[in-house]
Amino acid sequence: MKVCKFGGSSLANADQIKKVKRIIESDERRKVIVPSAPGKRFDGDIKITDLLYSFQDAVRNNGDHEGIFEQIAGRYIEIRDELGLKTEIEKYLEKIKKDVYSGACEDYTVSRGEYLNGLLIAEYLGYEFIDAADVVFFDAAGAYEPDKTRIIMRERLKTAERAVIPGFYGSKPDGTIKTFSRGGSDISGAIAARAARAEVYENWTDVPGFLMADPKIVKNPKIIKKITYKELRELSYMGANVMHEDAIFPVFQAKIPINIRNTNDPESPGTMIVPHFGDDDGDGTITGIAGKKGFIVIAIEKSNMNAELGFGRRVMSALEKNNIRFEHMPSGIDTLGVVLSNVEIEGKQSQLIDDIYAFCQPDSLEIFTGLALIATVGRGMRKRIGVAAKLFGALAESGVNIRMIDQGSSEMNIITGVDEKDFETAIRAVYNAFCGGENAK
Ligand code: ASP
Repeated sequence: MKVCKFGGSSLANADQIKKVKRIIESDERRKVIVPSAPGKRFDGDIKITDLLYSFQDAVRNNGDHEGIFEQIAGRYIEIRDELGLKTEIEKYLEKIKKDVYSGACEDYTVSRGEYLNGLLIAEYLGYEFIDAADVVFFDAAGAYEPDKTRIIMRERLKTAERAVIPGFYGSKPDGTIKTFSRGGSDISGAIAARAARAEVYENWTDVPGFLMADPKIVKNPKIIKKITYKELRELSYMGANVMHEDAIFPVFQAKIPINIRNTNDPESPGTMIVPHFGDDDGDGTITGIAGKKGFIVIAIEKSNMNAELGFGRRVMSALEKNNIRFEHMPSGIDTLGVVLSNVEIEGKQSQLIDDIYAFCQPDSLEIFTGLALIATVGRGMRKRIGVAAKLFGALAESGVNIRMIDQGSSEMNIITGVDEKDFETAIRAVYNAFCGGENAK
């Protein structure tokens, strides 16, 4: 069986929900459905979840809460009526309003977007509605409880032939509602796939799949047909995203593939995220390119550094003392560079420098700002000769100076550091070198 999560834009209005029903009915294995709240219907529209945050805020701060609530109610009533459903959504809306007025917590309020949508979609599909509060659990401190959730959700799903479980929330031991972070319905879907031991977790959204490069930089980048969890992690970390990062973990553990699909183009196979390499290892191609601006390098020099026991540890102690995570640490014989993100070092730079001087006594220390990192990722480049040559050749030909190189020991990712001003040129050059040349913007 399949667990299918549908994102907000796939459920933004009655027409979208009709498409979703056709998709679900076209494959009888689509037995567990995890919906988001209705999203944007057009550019400039407001997602229900955002309206619910505003509603909560307006109630607490004497804003126009009535007006906002009308908008929320209007959306659900319209969906219900256009789909010809019987659910007494007004009754549920009244209860929510009363609860919020009498002090319900923010997580409760914002989770109602998924809850109400789940009720309507369950009726429309003829599926059983399972409240996520009864099957997704957090502890009293608000930490997600995977084991309890898996066991209880699994048992509950055994009693339902076909079910709708709203995304984004669960409950704490005292029964109060707790949500995941924004975009968390992806996590709910992954959890349900794991509990149900699904053959695949389908994540239906409004993009054609995971793209090989950022479409804002490369024109019409190709869709990645197949990617491993590890590659996905490397690309997501560097800024390429279609799914909540934490959604990978539950299905990764259970080795369930994720299929990213487009609700507006259901015939397209989308992107398959798979646990293992398979036999396409080492064909010299890359899977994708992603990158981020906003890094600095601290370049440390000390004669005989190479022979000094514990030098690296002392540098790391300085970082740890200042609560700073590093990105990379490329080294030479008597030099060591520490690559850090601007966000990580903000407000801490001078203390860190003082500490590196105190702990390591370097001969010199220089700081270079304005670095962008580019990850060229691909299981297909493992153990292949010439991949790096192609990559660096492409950068050289487009006049990009490489300021740092780091190849992870998995041989699955080559990270290059370039000047921020060269970032877009570099991404296009790498894409064209590996994916055929017509697509530079
Ligand atoms: N509706 C929630 C949000 O907008 C959760 C989700 O859609 O995944 O963040």
